[in-house]
Amino acid sequence: MILAGMTLDELEILMAELKATKFRAKQIHNWIYVQSVSSIDEMTNLSKDFREELKKIAQVTDTKIKVKQVSKDGTIKYLVEYPDGECVETVLMRFDNRANLTACVSSQVGCAVNCSFCATGKGGFKRNLTYKEIIEQVLTIQRDTGLKITNIVFMGQGEPLLNLDNVLKALDIFNNDFQIGQRRITISTSGIIPGIKKFADKDLQSTLAISLHAPNHELRKQLMPIEEKYPIDKVKQALKDYIEKTGRRVTVEYILIHGFNDTPSVAKELAYFLQDLKCNINLIPYNSVIENDYKKPSNSDIMKFKYLLEHSGKKVTVRLERGADIDAACGQLRGNALKKVENL
Ligand code: SAH
Ligand code: SF4
Repeated sequence: MILAGMTLDELEILMAELKATKFRAKQIHNWIYVQSVSSIDEMTNLSKDFREELKKIAQVTDTKIKVKQVSKDGTIKYLVEYPDGECVETVLMRFDNRANLTACVSSQVGCAVNCSFCATGKGGFKRNLTYKEIIEQVLTIQRDTGLKITNIVFMGQGEPLLNLDNVLKALDIFNNDFQIGQRRITISTSGIIPGIKKFADKDLQSTLAISLHAPNHELRKQLMPIEEKYPIDKVKQALKDYIEKTGRRVTVEYILIHGFNDTPSVAKELAYFLQDLKCNINLIPYNSVIENDYKKPSNSDIMKFKYLLEHSGKKVTVRLERGADIDAACGQLRGNALKKVENL
């Protein structure tokens, strides 16, 4: 039995089976989520005999770090391996000027959405992660660094709204067991309309981010095949319904690709499209991760685009490369982003 991912209630039931007190469950819970130990032997306030008894039926984790890469700016990328040999990326982002420690987590092994610019999509879809596999990513970071994660973004590999049940259960555990407030958690989607509706019904305080990347159907479908199934106008309506239901602002993510969707006329079209949507906008300069014809925009084109969008009265931020901004595109931190490499 794996202890990581068990709630306090579940641990209390286990303790009752072992004829131990509820207080033991609290202690173990604290070792898992606050102290973030990786073995039962490290739970030093449990008696040696009890630890031995517990070890006969349980272990803390079955997840390993396969590769760890540390960037100059403190960003750490882990390749996490599950018992069946499948791996996902998880990233720790930290910033000199903020106390926040953000984990960027994956929700699936691979992704079926297959956006043309995305390295994950190119590899195809393997399987969903269980909620325990999702939370193991955050525990992996905490165990390895000894730090406590304060913020979570579902911006690693996979489409969270195509694995919503596990994502919602993981949200619950992040909230109740890790004590990470719902407002400190962001879920990014390529625009899965039924998932947006279900998410709206949950009426959570977490932020929904939509990967828009284009202001119209023709341009968007060239980047995202999902546009054929869930077209932009219907996605917009689903977001409006979400905003009305939850009262929350959404975040619009927009990858800037040189000469494709970063021109002044596209900026104006996007400003018009977003006029009646309660949102903040996050511009993401394209990051060359795979062989294709896309190029990064120039700095002056990024600034021009930002300026034109700001005319719409929206808050516009630019996501810096190398994890220097709070929403750094993880799962995509490759190439130049990671200078120092430690292969474990
Ligand atoms: N599947 C979800 C969440 C994971 S992707 C989604 O698409 O929203 C997280 C973010 O990284 C998305 O906004 C995605 O568009 C962005 N991204 C993917 N490939 C990128 C690349 N090559 N350069 C910059 N951002 C990228
Ligand atoms: Fe999947 Fe998101 Fe990558 Fe698109 S950008 S292929 S939805 S992970």
